[in-house]
Parts: sequence; C-alpha cells; structure tokens
Amino acid sequence: MDTIWTKTSKLPAFSPLAQSVRAEVAVIGGGMAGILTAFFLKRAGKDVIVLEGNRVGSGQTAGTTAKITISHNLIYEKLFREAGEEKARKYVSANKRALKMYGRLIQEEQIDCDFRECSSYLYSLTDAEQIKREVEAAVRLGIEAEFTTKTELPFSVMGSICYQKQAAFHPLLFLKALAEQLVIYEHTKVTGVEEGKIYTDHGNVLADAVVFASHYPIMNTPGYYFARMHQERSYVLALKQAQPFEHLYLGVDPGEDFSFRNFREFTLFGGEGHRTGENETGGQYKKLERRAKEYWRDCETIDRWSAQDCMTLDAIPYIGLYTGKNKKWYVETGFGKWGMTSSMAAALMITEQICQKESGNAAVFSPQRVPIRALKAAAVEGAKSAKGLAAPGGIRCPHLGCKLTWNPEEETWDCPCHGSRFDKEGNLIDNPAVRNAAVEGK
Ligand SMILES: Cc1cc2nc3c(=O)[nH]c(=O)nc-3n(C[C@H](O)[C@H](O)[C@H](O)COP(=O)(O)OP(=O)(O)OC[C@H]3O[C@@H](n4cnc5c(N)ncnc54)[C@H](O)[C@@H]3O)c2cc1C
Repeated sequence: MDTIWTKTSKLPAFSPLAQSVRAEVAVIGGGMAGILTAFFLKRAGKDVIVLEGNRVGSGQTAGTTAKITISHNLIYEKLFREAGEEKARKYVSANKRALKMYGRLIQEEQIDCDFRECSSYLYSLTDAEQIKREVEAAVRLGIEAEFTTKTELPFSVMGSICYQKQAAFHPLLFLKALAEQLVIYEHTKVTGVEEGKIYTDHGNVLADAVVFASHYPIMNTPGYYFARMHQERSYVLALKQAQPFEHLYLGVDPGEDFSFRNFREFTLFGGEGHRTGENETGGQYKKLERRAKEYWRDCETIDRWSAQDCMTLDAIPYIGLYTGKNKKWYVETGFGKWGMTSSMAAALMITEQICQKESGNAAVFSPQRVPIRALKAAAVEGAKSAKGLAAPGGIRCPHLGCKLTWNPEEETWDCPCHGSRFDKEGNLIDNPAVRNAAVEGK
C-alpha cells in the first residue's frame, strides 16, 4: 500500500527466514502492534523474533492517519453504561499510559518522527447533547476534556469535545527506529501454528510463546475471532493548499464522520467508511474529493489510499490470551481504528503478561470476556457470515468460504463476512485468509 507515510520514509529491508529457528517469543506481524510488542519484550530481556509476511509497516499501519489519542469516538459514556465505572477507568488508564509512553519512548530513543503534541476534537453538526454527555463521562473518568463550539474546522459545529495534550506523528519513521533494533524476518508468511511450533513458507519456528499481532488473528480455532469481529475500511486524501490544522478532528455523526489532521504542509482528510465487502457501487474517493473542494476550493489531491481495521462486538480491543486453554498464545487485535494507542497499550500489557508481571488493566481487554450487552452485535456477525456462506456461486474466500464481492473503487475482491481482500488475480492482500483466492470460478 502506497501512502504519504511510505513515500516519506525508507525502512530497512530484513531477509526472510532462511532456516528453522528457535526463540523464546515469536511475534507474528510487523505492524505497529507487533513491532512495539517485540521492542518491549526485548527490553525486558526476552529473546524475541518478528515474522512478517510482507514488509515491516506495510499493513494497515501504512494507511493510518496516525493520531495518538484517547478520544476514541464516543466511547466513555458507552463504557460507563455498558461496562461500568471500574472497567471504564481501567480502559482510560491503559490508554493514558499508552499516550504518555509514546512521548517517553520518542524522547528516550531520540526518534525523529514528526511527533507533536496537540489537542484532539470530536465534533457533531447536529447533537450537542450527546457531546455534553460524553464530556461529562470523560471528566468523571479523570480525563482533561471540555465542551466547546470553537474549532478550526471550515464549518460550524453544534458541539465538540476537546481532549488536550494528545499527539500526532509519522508512524513509519517511528517504526523504523524500533525495527532497526530487532530480529525480523520479512517476506515470511505464517501459514499455521501448533503448540510451540510455527509453520511459515520459509521454514519452521520453535517458540515458547507466540504473539498474534497479524492485525486479524489467522487461526480460526481456537479463539473463534471470526465470530466476534468484522472489518471496516475508510479512505484518506492527502491535500495541498487546503488548511494548516494545528489540532486533530473527527466527526461523530453518521455520514459526516470526517477526519482532519495536518502532516507537514499536507492536510489529511478521511472518511466514507463502510464494512469491508459492502462497497459494490464505489465512488468513495470522488465523494471525498467533492467534499474537500467544498471546504477548500483550491485544494489539490497529491495522494490517496484506504485501509481497514477490526471492529469488536463491544468496541474494546481483544488483548491477552488467545484462548483460555492455551497459556502460551497471545493476541492483539480489534483496535476499532484506534490502533496507535491500542497497539502501545497491547504491547505493554502483553509484555507484562509474558514476563508474568502484574498487568492491572488486563481484565477489561481480555479476549475471554463475555460482553453480554453486545449479543445483538454478535447476532449481526452471525447473520452476515451465514449470508456470505449461503450466497451461491461466485468467487469464494479461502478463509471460511464466503462469497467475495467486487470492490470497484480499488479493483479488489473483498469478503463481506470477515474482511479478507484479494487483488483481481486473486492474490491475497489482507487477512484473516492466509491463501490466495481462485478467481477462475468467477
Ligand atoms: C483509514 C484509517 C485511519 C486510521 N487512523 C488512525 C489514527 O489516526 N489513530 C489510531 O490510533 N488508529 C488509526 N487507525 C487504526 C490503526 O491504523 C490500526 O489499528 C493499526 O495500524 C493496526 O496495526 P497492527 O499492527 O495491528 O496491524 P498491521 O499494521 O496491519 O500489521 C499487521 C502485520 O501482520 C502481517 N501479517 C498478516 N498476516 C500475516 C501472516 N500470516 N504471517 C506473517 N505476517 C502477517 C501484515 O503483513 C502486517 O504487516 C486507522 C485505521 C484506518 C483504516
């Protein structure tokens, strides 16, 4: 995936695995989550390797807008209501710690990655009351947040929440500095994992512990993540001559949930999201460009890309043991488009768990939790999968056999059930599938 980040950084190349190896910990995936986890495990004295199927940072991390923030949509009022105050406090604590750790790490490691402190805003064009409720919940949880109608946006808002002391950076320059310190095997795709043994297309790895940081977990059983997650894509334009935003913005109204931030002289303008595989009409970039022109008549698109992320049933990531029965497999997934802070939170918690240290906030993120209030979301996932499986003919996804849909915007075959994606020849782009799709049956 080519993005403004890949075009303004050059990461070192790492050789594929050449022979079978052993390690204390093997991390599958060299995105933000995997690299941070390997980095902290190494700092803790572990012998750790990273197995990356493509290149470091080439997954969804290359497509992020890289806001480092705890303003995760309207989450705090929902957490209070659905999970209770104690769990909400733990969620805040894990994310505050992650936000702080970015600043600390960048200073300690002297990483030159366009890191800057700024505020992050969530805004609504129609409903000030929901914003006020969110401010109230955030403040009760000890977050520095305030209601305001003053923003830098090119339109007026009914209300917005300002979260102070958040940040933004260049994700790949940051990853580069950490990756240079690690043992990484690129172009080494994991095809299966058994107790203590990892199979790749370049040989096997024996490891005491395995961390699945492959964005979407690649093993269907145990874990059954396919039954409790889906993926959503969204689109980003990098614009010249738009507007020099100092702060970060995200809309919360459906259909008006646009994202704004600046990187150097460019404005990153994002939106037009949808469930992966549900884009049979296309036109997302055009719609975004039309909207950009309404805001900034003279703006010019210099780059555009899209990416996707995993959405859990209750909007809290799955971080912890892959399954209750296996104490050697760990997982970091379901970041809900907040994978900068969530990756850091995951890396810190999983390192503590592997090193058998107390990890105070772990229970909130445990993949073994049963989110009773999210049963409706679970039923939606079940129905989507049943529909994808029952649909006759067409090209089938090698993951679980759902019928793929054609995505005209990106000329890819996308799975509406679990979000695997393939190019027009059927070559795998995004997991959970680990094999190419057979397109002859079209
Ligand atoms: C448009 C958009 C904007 C976003 N903006 C923000 C933002 O501003 N702030 C924020 O906090 N979050 C944001 N996010 C979310 C964030 O970008 C992601 O949550 C995060 O990058 C995910 O990181 P990751 O390491 O889990 O996944 P990835 O970066 O995808 O890394 C996973 C890696 O695993 C590798 N892999 C996969 N399968 C295998 C296999 N079988 N064997 C070996 N390797 C494998 C892949 O090649 C990949 O490199 C955004 C998301 C989107 C879609």
